[in-house]
Amino acid sequence: MSAPHHRQRIAIFGATGSVGQSTLDVIAQHPMRYEVTALAAYQDVAGMQALARAFHPRYVVMANRQAASELAAALSDLSAIEVRSGPEALVEMAADPGIDTAVAAIVGAAGLPACLAAVEAGKRVLLANKEALVVAGDLLCQAAQRSGATLLPIDSEHNGLFQCLPVDAAGAMDLSGVEHLCLTASGGPFRERDPATLAKVTVAEACAHPTWSMGQKISVDSATMMNKGLEVIEACRLFGLPSAQVTVVIHPQSLVHALVQYRDGSMLAQLGLADMRTPVAHALAWPERIDSGVAALDLAAVGTLAFTQPDAERFPCLALARDALERGPGATVALNAANEVAVDAFLHGLLRFDRIAGVIDATLSGMEHHVDNALEALLEHDHAARTHARQQLRQWSA
Ligand code: NAD
Ligand code: MG
Repeated sequence: MSAPHHRQRIAIFGATGSVGQSTLDVIAQHPMRYEVTALAAYQDVAGMQALARAFHPRYVVMANRQAASELAAALSDLSAIEVRSGPEALVEMAADPGIDTAVAAIVGAAGLPACLAAVEAGKRVLLANKEALVVAGDLLCQAAQRSGATLLPIDSEHNGLFQCLPVDAAGAMDLSGVEHLCLTASGGPFRERDPATLAKVTVAEACAHPTWSMGQKISVDSATMMNKGLEVIEACRLFGLPSAQVTVVIHPQSLVHALVQYRDGSMLAQLGLADMRTPVAHALAWPERIDSGVAALDLAAVGTLAFTQPDAERFPCLALARDALERGPGATVALNAANEVAVDAFLHGLLRFDRIAGVIDATLSGMEHHVDNALEALLEHDHAARTHARQQLRQWSA
């Protein structure tokens, strides 16, 4: 008889978001394996209240203090669930000895401090928050080596790569036989749209992703293809490879998520329906496999798989990201910060869609990017780049 092992205690950062929902959906299918211990979000009181009532975590965190006090009032009949507030409560939650696994699913650089704290505390960390790696990849990977944390990518392409790479049971990888990694990209909603009409793109059009249902920021990133640019950086940092060894191919069906080209001519691919529950289930159970609720791919029904080269002129953000990667960690901090500012401005009707790349380009070329490899220095550079990007906005605003 095998000894009864305790359920994996899970903390979800960004619980009310799209990845948070996919994660909770998988967890709900396996109540004997997983227990929701803590949930965190920014300010969605109604969303968090519903999750607290459904999953009964020990505590919940709202980063926004006003939202935290509203949530505490709304949950006053449930005395067993504590409500905590503020960014410092997020970091405390990440280091809580009462959790085993942290799901990093906050959007943007705002997720970095908690993500880093979870890695430093030696947790199993399921990483969706790609911006954290773009801002502090070296720091996160070094901290993981020191603490023994297991970093498991759940961004679908990186999870696909992880599945196709030679990984041992401890998570160590030997990449000596790998020629290059390849990320697929759907090309987003504007893959074939007349570039002359991109000035008039609305928020609804930019967020209508053809194959994935996701939060607004990553949906706009997919429309500009900055998402793939961030993912190239994410892959280089996660797997320790230079930009030249991470390629991108357009695959509008989003059924093949990533491929690994080996020296001997073999190419391994990971396929599946475009549903985040697959990478989430893979990383939750790794190295085992569990049901995710996602149907199997019917290849005969799919018929053919299509691939094309990305169009560099249509998607300037891809080259901006590679350029920042070549220039070093400070430049990728600024790239991400300027992109967050520009996308937020677009979502608020303050910047034209076709000017997002211009704001990022001007921020990258208008600053020095020498930064020390420490959290405080990186966040300071992030702040400076946001200020710079906001100044650009004033000139570019419609
Ligand atoms: P989303 O907008 O749907 O959800 C974001 C979550 O983060 C929300 O719960 C929100 O409350 C929380 N949040 C935002 N700012 C916060 C702050 N300052 N403090 C605390 N919480 C905060 O976003 P999403 O689509 O779920 O994406 C989350 C992350 O996962 C992003 O980095 C994205 O690039 C990545 N990702 C998403 C998908 C997807 O399918 N949605 C796929 C791959 C990677
Ligand atoms: Mg992805």
